[in-house]
Amino acid sequence: MKTRTKVVVIGGGIAGCSTLYHLTQEGWSDVVLVERNELTSGTTWHSAAQVTNFGMNQTMVGLKSHSIALYKKLSENPEYPINYHHGDGGIRLANTEAQMQGYRHFASMARGMDVDFEVIDAAECARRHPLISTTNLLGGLWDPLDGDIDPAQLCQALAYHARKAGAEVYRNTPVTALTQHKDDTWTVHTEKGDIDCDIVVNACGYRVNEVGAMMGVHHPVASMEHQYFLTEDIPEIAAAGHRMPLLRCPISDYYSRQEKGGLLVGFYEQACKTWGMDGIDPNFVNALCPDDLDRVMDVLAGAFERMPALERTGIRSVVNGPITYTIDGAPLVGPIPGKRNAFCIIGLRAGLGEGGGHGWLLAQQIVHGEACYDTWCIDPRRFTGHANVELTALKAIEDYQNEFRFHFPHEHRPAGRPAKTTPLTPILAAEGAEFTVVNGWERMDYLKPFPDFHPSLSFDFDETFECVAAEVHNVQTNVGLCEVNGFNRIEITGDDRHAFLDRMFCGAVSRRPGRVGLGYLLNDHGMLKGEATLANLPASDRGPARVWYGSAAASEFHDMDWLTQHLRADEDVQLRSLTNDQTILVLAGPRARDVLAACARGDWSNAAFPWLSVRECFIGFAPATVMRVSFSGELAYEIHVPNASLYAAYLALREAGKAFDLKLFGARAVDQMRLEKGFLHWKADILTEFDPFETGLARFVKTDKAAFVGKDALLARQAKGPDKTLVTLKVAATHAPAHGGASLMQAGRVVGTVTSGGWGHRVNMNLAYAFVQPDFATIGTVLSLDTCGAQVAAEVIAPCPYDHAHTRMRS
Ligand SMILES: Cc1cc2nc3c(=O)[nH]c(=O)nc-3n(C[C@H](O)[C@H](O)[C@H](O)COP(=O)(O)OP(=O)(O)OC[C@H]3O[C@@H](n4cnc5c(N)ncnc54)[C@H](O)[C@@H]3O)c2cc1C
Repeated sequence: MKTRTKVVVIGGGIAGCSTLYHLTQEGWSDVVLVERNELTSGTTWHSAAQVTNFGMNQTMVGLKSHSIALYKKLSENPEYPINYHHGDGGIRLANTEAQMQGYRHFASMARGMDVDFEVIDAAECARRHPLISTTNLLGGLWDPLDGDIDPAQLCQALAYHARKAGAEVYRNTPVTALTQHKDDTWTVHTEKGDIDCDIVVNACGYRVNEVGAMMGVHHPVASMEHQYFLTEDIPEIAAAGHRMPLLRCPISDYYSRQEKGGLLVGFYEQACKTWGMDGIDPNFVNALCPDDLDRVMDVLAGAFERMPALERTGIRSVVNGPITYTIDGAPLVGPIPGKRNAFCIIGLRAGLGEGGGHGWLLAQQIVHGEACYDTWCIDPRRFTGHANVELTALKAIEDYQNEFRFHFPHEHRPAGRPAKTTPLTPILAAEGAEFTVVNGWERMDYLKPFPDFHPSLSFDFDETFECVAAEVHNVQTNVGLCEVNGFNRIEITGDDRHAFLDRMFCGAVSRRPGRVGLGYLLNDHGMLKGEATLANLPASDRGPARVWYGSAAASEFHDMDWLTQHLRADEDVQLRSLTNDQTILVLAGPRARDVLAACARGDWSNAAFPWLSVRECFIGFAPATVMRVSFSGELAYEIHVPNASLYAAYLALREAGKAFDLKLFGARAVDQMRLEKGFLHWKADILTEFDPFETGLARFVKTDKAAFVGKDALLARQAKGPDKTLVTLKVAATHAPAHGGASLMQAGRVVGTVTSGGWGHRVNMNLAYAFVQPDFATIGTVLSLDTCGAQVAAEVIAPCPYDHAHTRMRS
């Protein structure tokens, strides 16, 4: 066994084998995989191993289609062939028009990744799958490349090809401890000896937290028991003369695929069970949980009704094994928060379908620092402090119960809520607020018109349209108040703070006390990594001179890791998170200054406190820090208040606001107003797939700065010209917004992808942002937007259609 290597991958299921293989493909051959037993002896060996293109966003579709292409290539390699039923086809069923509409959206989104789904009616479903009845069926989504693979052969083939490229695999070698050294390298202690390495990867399936504990980390991953059975042969299958397509059913929560001459049918029952919450028997190896078909009776009936042949067919065997889940159903693939040189590929609930792609994206991150797609949807840092195993278990149960029921726009399911609140949450609820969830935070979305208001789940504009319009109108013509909780806030102190930030940001960094600026962080490839406001606070009785770094709520761990990784040992810079201590109250609208002046001492005139100023003060008697910034495009103040004083500040503002008829507004109104202003959202429109020039942020880049992270790569990209360009679109539809991922077409070809969309109430326009090929970015170009199957015109317009000169927010 080697005693020194570059990377040690721990775990020899699909996650570990795929990572090892792809590390070698990316050019690293001095890599090792250690497995406590035999390869695939965790969950992988008994997987139903269905492999589909279907995913909720383009990154998921892209990584799944990588799996399919890779598995096909491997299966055709005569050196190590694999049983892979590629292209049996698969149908995701639907019995509601809303589900069908969702499928049309997913088909539009997948087209941008060169994946061709087809939305078919009930009769066509039955024609393609001769065993099914069309009772209570509207139709489905067809993936022509759906199939299944032999999971053990697949892992062996990946290990075989990795070994051929120089990697080594040590079986029956349990990892017992991990030691990280001062230089951030690791020693992996195993029962067979120690291996020193630069990087470790946790790919330990349901034992993820045993290995996590070895590095002092608790990963938000919980396991669920999951069962399928295999039937005797079914004569109708033999008679059909072709293999049965796969089925996935959100109506009754089961799936099926052909297995030899019969079917494999798996179930997602409501009375589901978590597994291994109190520890896992060390001898649970190549093992299964006891069968319990009684538990799945509720969903079994639905499968029998859909495929009556099952009623006449005997069950050959039952498989019940643990599957891992995370809080949002997507796995954790990437850097481990708070650690250096440590990665994970865990929480895979569809690890065979996705594993090829996840290993690919992880290997790219390890070798190049970033993957070819923006990987935020699988980034382990997307959950923060609230993400513990207990909360994950609640979400895992909910997710399992809804396995094939995709989330609709604005849908937030109830399990594990409320996770993060402020003192205002119950007060806003009593005022009639409906909440959205942002990184666990309950954030007011809009005010309900009446207590029992439940808008439909739909891809169309829903019944909130008028509520949001009213909130926007009030902010535009009068004054509104909005709570923005969980905003990521890092306090940066030390004499070198500005020099450090100057190196981290690609634009100008102001050192002037009392000034606020917006800036962007790039990765080493010159692509957009982050967005933050920087506020220079002078020394006061509240602290020394400092910078407040503010960014999106979800970026808390991501940004902290990125900043700390770039700190130099000899730099006088200290970082302290204030995210959970401070909440923002946004006061916005033409009367905002009057309300502020009525409850806070001082001169708030435009001359005394102009655009992009910051000042400490009291709101009533509540200490606050006020910034003159605006995401709505109206005159606005961000009032940052310690949570202990939040209620006091709120009462003072409401009291002062009485004379001005101040009303509440929520996140939904903010999101629509920012589209009218040309303002972007991190991880919707600001992605690692694009640089700041492509994203229309050239004004925030200062190429004549001596140095900043990503500068050389950015200059090289600038010289080459953009691959895509972010544009603003006016969509010729009144029934539905453009959804993120939807394809923009020209002459039957995909030329762009929507990042976000919504109704601009102040300009009375259906607006969207999209990345399009530069040839189609000229103002006036009309593209065809595929929105849930309907083709509507989308015209490129100048950004910021509302108050283009920004006079309202600056006056
Ligand atoms: C019944 C069932 C049906 C399924 N059907 C499908 C399907 O149709 N399609 C699909 O895509 N997915 C399916 N899945 C899910 C899929 O099987 C899993 O997502 C996948 O197998 C997880 O792979 P993994 O590599 O993450 O974990 P595992 O396969 O569990 O591998 C982890 C490995 O880490 C090793 N390990 C643990 N601790 C240590 C240690 N200390 N030292 C060294 N090694 C260690 C283990 O021994 C194990 O081999 C199904 C799962 C079940 C249970």
